Amino acid sequence: MISRRGFLGAAASAAAVVGFDPFGHRWVTEAEAATRPSFSDVPPLDGELAVDPAARQAVATDLGNIVHRQPRAVLRPGSARDIATMIRFCSAHGIPVSTRGQAHTTYGQGVSGGLVIEMRHLRRIRSLDGRYAEVDAGIHWKDLATAAYEQSPRLTPPVLTGYTGLTVGGTLSVGGIGGIVGGLRTGLQVDHVRELEVVTGTGSIRRCSRQQQPDLFDAVLGGLGQCGVITKAVIELVPAPERARNFVLQYSENAPFFRDLRLLIDRAGVDHVYAEFTAPDPTPVYRIHATAFYDPPATPDDAAILAGLTTEPVVEDTPYLDYVLTIDRLIDMLRETENWDRLVKPWYDVWLPDSTIEEYLAELLPTLTPRDIGTYGAGLIYPQRRDLATRPAPRRPEPDGSPFVYVVDINTVSSTPGPDPEFSAEMLERNKRLYAHARQSYGAVLYPIGSVPFTARDWHDHYGDAWPAFHAAKRRYDPAGVLTPGPGIFRQD
Ligand SMILES: Cc1cc2nc3c(=O)[nH]c(=O)nc-3n(C[C@H](O)[C@H](O)[C@H](O)COP(=O)(O)OP(=O)(O)OC[C@H]3O[C@@H](n4cnc5c(N)ncnc54)[C@H](O)[C@@H]3O)c2cc1C
Repeated sequence: MISRRGFLGAAASAAAVVGFDPFGHRWVTEAEAATRPSFSDVPPLDGELAVDPAARQAVATDLGNIVHRQPRAVLRPGSARDIATMIRFCSAHGIPVSTRGQAHTTYGQGVSGGLVIEMRHLRRIRSLDGRYAEVDAGIHWKDLATAAYEQSPRLTPPVLTGYTGLTVGGTLSVGGIGGIVGGLRTGLQVDHVRELEVVTGTGSIRRCSRQQQPDLFDAVLGGLGQCGVITKAVIELVPAPERARNFVLQYSENAPFFRDLRLLIDRAGVDHVYAEFTAPDPTPVYRIHATAFYDPPATPDDAAILAGLTTEPVVEDTPYLDYVLTIDRLIDMLRETENWDRLVKPWYDVWLPDSTIEEYLAELLPTLTPRDIGTYGAGLIYPQRRDLATRPAPRRPEPDGSPFVYVVDINTVSSTPGPDPEFSAEMLERNKRLYAHARQSYGAVLYPIGSVPFTARDWHDHYGDAWPAFHAAKRRYDPAGVLTPGPGIFRQD
């Protein structure tokens, strides 16, 4: 056996980085060092800094396959201290730094031409007790959910994304909507964090919470990596149910679909609801997935759950963890059979208020063709209860008197692997157009995981009255402006 460090060292010794040439604005390898006197030494690290082409190419794009930019180096951190060291170094030399979770955002949000920090190297569970788990930010939600479920009594994070092969740091940086668990009774993942360890843009390692440095806590939760790198999170856990009963209901018309959706999201005994839609072919299909969790010998009251609905459901009943991993199994299959990671994914994701969503979908769907979603893509609706989402970010629509608000996704997926500049350009233009209209006419707000081109002005409008606080936090915690340039929030257009 050879250690990871030993292996990497042996494999890349000639390519190992020993410094940065501030004049040539490039990293310097050991092989080049003898001939290049003008570089600062890279400080010692617990992990590795790689500059070999394979390491850089591996992080040059994300799940979207739309934005391609090779970084100059990749940090495989061995500790939060490594992240702090390299951020201080990059900050001093004006080198952009991006943090990469699983890179499942789709428009270069975590891509950078400077340094990319690969969080997958920090993925341990530090502690797990009856109420909280402290985890490294590079851990996948799936691994935390599985470990929590193995406890006695069984536990679970109160909110889980539809696909759970995403990192804790990645979804906490965007919001974390309960695609498979949570939402109707819980808020978002950012609402269930007790404490964070963060490396700021000045390279300082801080602990923050609602009580301790709340401005930093507010700036990094849903903060798109602008003010710091989340290195650890203390996540709330709750008792896990044993089983999930899932009711699937299908519709071809807007009105009965929304009538039943509204009944189900407000119904006692229903723990989770999401919906799918397709483009008309020739009519659209809407599908509601409503789930009740339970512990035998008690069982859900099916008659009460289904009372007054306009259609009959298909019922599936599974162990809780099988239910949680439903979308993971689908993605694993697509990864094996369809080259999933390389398909082009120009995703469109917006929040809509309850008062406009029905009208919006009625107008939107007839304009879509099957190609707008794609065989491997999905149209999705995630209802959320407003008052349980307590954090300043992610941004949401203005209150309209309804307790509910929704995320609508057109998760477009190409039929063949990319890159495909023509398809990308066409869909980016579509997203721009859809967003401008939805914002203007329906009060939509971006959920910034997808591929909607945004100018600095758009970001300013997006943050609205929260902009001054966010801007001040950026100046305080990342004064050199090196962190996460991908979304272009603080870019000078
Ligand atoms: C199949 C699928 C299903 C999904 N289902 C849901 C869902 O149900 N609910 C939902 O909300 N989203 C969902 N998403 C979207 C997903 O939440 C986001 O894409 C999320 O950002 C992905 O996590 P990641 O680890 O890949 O983050 P990345 O894409 O790697 O990072 C996201 C952003 O945060 C920054 N970042 C990453 N890690 C850190 C860190 N530790 N500290 C600071 N900044 C960091 C990155 O630079 C980037 O800007 C889904 C995506 C896919 C592909």
